Amino acid sequence: LRNEEISSLLRGIPAAFVDKVENILRPLDLTDERYRQVMDLMRQNLDAGLHPDTHATANVKCFPTYVRSVPDGSENGDFLALDLGGTNFRVLLINLNGQEVTMESKIYIIPQHIMLGSGDQLFDHIADCIFKFMCDHQLHDRRLPLGFTFSFPCRQEGLDRAILTTWTKGFKCAGVEGNDIVELLHAAIDRRGDMKNVRCLAVINDTVGALMSCAHSARNCAVGLILGTGTNACYIEDLHNVKTWDGDYNEPKQVLINTEWGAFGNDGCLDFILTDFDKSIDKHSINPGKQIYEKMISGMYMGEIARLAIERLRKHNLLFEGEGSYHLSTRGRFYTKYVSEIEGDDVDNFTVTKQIFEELELSTHTEQDCRLVRHVCSLVSKRAAYLASAGIACLLNKMGRRDTTVGVDGSLYRFHPFFHDLMMEKITQLLKPNLKFKLMLSHDGSGKGAALVAAVAARLRKEAED
Ligand code: BGC
Ligand code: MG
Repeated sequence: LRNEEISSLLRGIPAAFVDKVENILRPLDLTDERYRQVMDLMRQNLDAGLHPDTHATANVKCFPTYVRSVPDGSENGDFLALDLGGTNFRVLLINLNGQEVTMESKIYIIPQHIMLGSGDQLFDHIADCIFKFMCDHQLHDRRLPLGFTFSFPCRQEGLDRAILTTWTKGFKCAGVEGNDIVELLHAAIDRRGDMKNVRCLAVINDTVGALMSCAHSARNCAVGLILGTGTNACYIEDLHNVKTWDGDYNEPKQVLINTEWGAFGNDGCLDFILTDFDKSIDKHSINPGKQIYEKMISGMYMGEIARLAIERLRKHNLLFEGEGSYHLSTRGRFYTKYVSEIEGDDVDNFTVTKQIFEELELSTHTEQDCRLVRHVCSLVSKRAAYLASAGIACLLNKMGRRDTTVGVDGSLYRFHPFFHDLMMEKITQLLKPNLKFKLMLSHDGSGKGAALVAAVAARLRKEAED
């Protein structure tokens, strides 16, 4: 059905013209066979990450998280949470009371110069934001457990020890890679000297937050997926499959694995599907050669893939009569949000699409231009959704559970009109026949998940003290 919709966009356009268009766009349109290959490669990469002999050189690291069980609904109390890693930094105050969760939160901007500055500046800024938040909510005389959702690849050495291996997305702060982010946060809090009772008990990845928050109501949730600025997944693995595990073997004999699948392809294993557009994005990014799978899928890059394809068509006089604009030729200026808006637009009038063309100061555009640009957007998001599906199908097939809920969060999944449907279709196709699954939208997973894990950590700490 989707494929029919896509080709119907080209209906009525002269065949010779369509041929030229298709020639340029064909590399974005992968066959079923390709997605199967990606799924099989993902499996090899996961196994390499989980095994001590291959872990050091593996691209998909499969970090054990030290989160061993999903919430059981008995978590109670007030918690502070931090959420860093997407578009915004947030501080949250969360109350857990059985199934009931209430929260207040505030977004603080992380200016570009801090994202690219020093680690001390970053953590000083975070400490300042916590201080302001505590003033606004009159929390200074309270001792609240804090959970930190830090959405970057970390090697964990405990719930409250997370060593950043490498920055991703738009961040690159000096002096943080190789260090424990809890120590850096505490050092910044201590430099202020006025928040001695704020202590971080747990660090989690946003995928873990998505899984935990969905598992709070759907007990069979065993995978967490983020499709936002970046992409990543975590899942519940049996301890005996985690040969890198160095924690205890108490019940339950399982642990959440943060796959860090964004780095899939860093060794070149996905080169067979990379397009010129992908290569160009990688080359101009702040982390060339890194996060190859993420760069084909996530919101930080999808709009740019579309822009490059649109620009290529335009330069071949196949769009806008060959007339571009300053904006259209500016890197990063065609936002991923445009892709979602254009695909959600009404094909009878293309009102939104035309508005976006105006914003980009494209002076001449016809209905055919609208249809072609929509076609480009569809191809780019279909490929992203199918690639992510290959990853999810791989995890579900590996786990082999009869019925699994996947908790999903992230702006791309949330705001794209068909991402969910595309994924349902492709995962179903790639899944072993006896398995079933659901994709469940996670609500505020980063905040809720951090609070849930902090609650468990607080209980364990108290038990140890008593
Ligand atoms: C990070 C992951 C994170 C994902 C989604 C990636 O760039 O490496 O840790 O889960 O983005 O936010
Ligand atoms: Mg987020």
